[in-house]
Amino acid sequence: MSFNIEPILERRRFLAGAAGLLLASCGRPASNAAPAVRVAALRPVLQTLPGLPTKDGAGVSLLRVIGQRALSQLDPFLLLDRFHSDDPNAYIRGFPDHPHRGFETVTVMLEGHMLHRDSKGNAGNIRGGGAQWMTAGRGIIHSEMPQQVDGLMSGFQLWINLPAREKMQAPAYQDLQRDRIPAVALGGGGVAKVIVGRAFDTSGPVSAPSTEPVVATLVLEDDTLVEIPTPPSHTAWLFVHTGEVLVGESRVPAGTLAVLGAGERVRLRADQQRSGVLFAAAKPLHEPIARRGPFVMNTEAEIEQAFADYRAGTLTL
Ligand code: FE
Repeated sequence: MSFNIEPILERRRFLAGAAGLLLASCGRPASNAAPAVRVAALRPVLQTLPGLPTKDGAGVSLLRVIGQRALSQLDPFLLLDRFHSDDPNAYIRGFPDHPHRGFETVTVMLEGHMLHRDSKGNAGNIRGGGAQWMTAGRGIIHSEMPQQVDGLMSGFQLWINLPAREKMQAPAYQDLQRDRIPAVALGGGGVAKVIVGRAFDTSGPVSAPSTEPVVATLVLEDDTLVEIPTPPSHTAWLFVHTGEVLVGESRVPAGTLAVLGAGERVRLRADQQRSGVLFAAAKPLHEPIARRGPFVMNTEAEIEQAFADYRAGTLTL
């Protein structure tokens, strides 16, 4: 009986090629043994994922987008929470005093009023259109409490990891009122606001961390095409909070994260309706992650140390 091995070889060649493409599309550098893989100009949608309803803080209802079981992290992004409610019971208890170590927290307010206070004496009133960038570094204890008793509270919280060499740096805090965040007209009535990094020929006001993040909010109007250049090896994603967006041919409805593959830029447009988007990109760290509650380090021993320091009252010293 004859046996033609050609189809098997072909399949192996295909799988080897597919693995290379997958590696490139995950934004990780190809291993030194692998041949160079050409990076696509346009970033494709690798995966779409709805947010998962949950509660955090003292009982705040939110959608956990990054940081849920199906997507525990997206290097260097550790968490994306979406909060949006006009029911005070969903937000009024806020986030009383709690610690952090080893990463950065970013709050983006679309609507509402929140007061931040922390153990370094920083206080910041964040209102709709504003943002807050906190580098927890070696340790900070802070609270984030709503300053409204009714009305709409809407926005995001994002956690971005720090490289090992920066996890124990001194904490830092940057408060960004609405008027400090540059707005760029996108054509057709759309607007981009750049919080950090460079996009739409505009730089955000946050001093650039070593993960070189780009974070921007976008309002897209009917079918106006928008392109965002991105460093090809950055991890990139977008979350559609209102309307519906097309990324290439991929449809991304409201409440959905689109994880983007490698590429030089992302091309998107609203699909026949005003649509709201949070866009982010940053350089992956490729470091081990040890994570428990409010602490994100590289090893379990460092997590144990963080809890010990917190119990001893030395976390923030
Ligand atoms: Fe916090």
